[in-house]
Amino acid sequence: MLVARPQTIDLHAHTRYSDGSLSVMELLHHAREHGVETIAITDHDSLGAHYELASQSEDLPCHVITGLEISTQYLNREIHIVGLNLNIHEPGIVQFVAQQQAYRQQRLLEFANRLEQLGMEGVVGEVEALSAESVTRTHLAQIMVRRGWAKDANRAFKQYIGRKSKAYVKAKWPTIEQAVSAIRGAGGKAVLAHPGRYQLSRKQLALMLEDFAAAGGQAVELAYPNMDPQLARWMTEKALNLALQGSQGADFHNPEWRWVKPGFFADLPKSIVPVWQDFL
Ligand code: AMP
Ligand code: MN
Ligand code: MN
Ligand code: MN
Repeated sequence: MLVARPQTIDLHAHTRYSDGSLSVMELLHHAREHGVETIAITDHDSLGAHYELASQSEDLPCHVITGLEISTQYLNREIHIVGLNLNIHEPGIVQFVAQQQAYRQQRLLEFANRLEQLGMEGVVGEVEALSAESVTRTHLAQIMVRRGWAKDANRAFKQYIGRKSKAYVKAKWPTIEQAVSAIRGAGGKAVLAHPGRYQLSRKQLALMLEDFAAAGGQAVELAYPNMDPQLARWMTEKALNLALQGSQGADFHNPEWRWVKPGFFADLPKSIVPVWQDFL
C-alpha cells in the first residue's frame, strides 16, 4: 500500500550539524515519539552528529545508523547521495567531508555577495556568523526571512537562491562516482536520495539510475513523504532491473514543517530488497 503511515525504520534525517533545527538528542527523542526505532542521521556533508554520539555513553531512544548526505553534480542538477552504515573514522571520508564543508562555506559567501549586490545589506556578515558545521542554502533562506527580504523559505529559493533564480551560484560539487567511491571506501552503502525531487524527465531519471548503478551505487530511496506512487512503481521496476536495493526515509529537518514527520511515508515496495538487510 502506498499510503503514508508510521514506519519504525527511517534512514534520512538532519540535525543542527547541517540544516536541521534540532540537536542530536532532540532529534532522537522526536523520532522515538513518532514511533521510529531505528534512525540514520544523514546531515549534509557532515558526520558531526556521529562523532558527538561516539563520545557519549547515554542510553539512546533509538538505534542509530551512521550516515551522511553528499551533494553531487549530474545533468546540471544538484543530486544527493546518502551514505549509510559507514566507518566515520575512515581517512578518505573524513577528508572528503572536510573538503565539502570548506566548499559550502565558500559557495554560501558567493551567494551572500550576490545578495548584497541586490540590496540585502549585511547578509555576508550573517553568513560569516553561522555556526553549523555544514552551512547550506537553508540557513541563507532563514536569514532572508528573518531580515524581511523574503516572505518564507520557499520564496527565498524561488526568487533568489534556487536553481534558475536571481542569485543562484552554479555548484561545483563532485561527481556521483566520487561520492559513491568515498562512501564505499568507508564501508558504507551508497543510496540515491529522493529521486522525484530533481525535476528530471523519466528518460533522465532512467539514465541517472543506470549511471548511478554503474558508478557502484547500491540503493535508491523509494519511500519518502509525498513521493508520487506512480513514480515509486516505475522506479522500483528500473531499480530491480539494475539489481539496486531500496531505502526509505522522511528527510526530516524541522518539527515546524508539519508535512514531514520522522517515519511518516509509504511502505517500501515489497519486491525490492531493503538496503538495511545487511546491517540490521
Ligand atoms: P544546499 O545543500 O546548500 O544546496 O541546500 C540545499 C537544501 O536546501 C536542501 O537540502 C533543502 O533542505 C533546502 N531546500 C531546497 N529547496 C528548497 C525550497 N524550495 N524550499 C525550502 N528549502 C529548500
Ligand atoms: Mn536539507
Ligand atoms: Mn536531499
Ligand atoms: Mn536530506
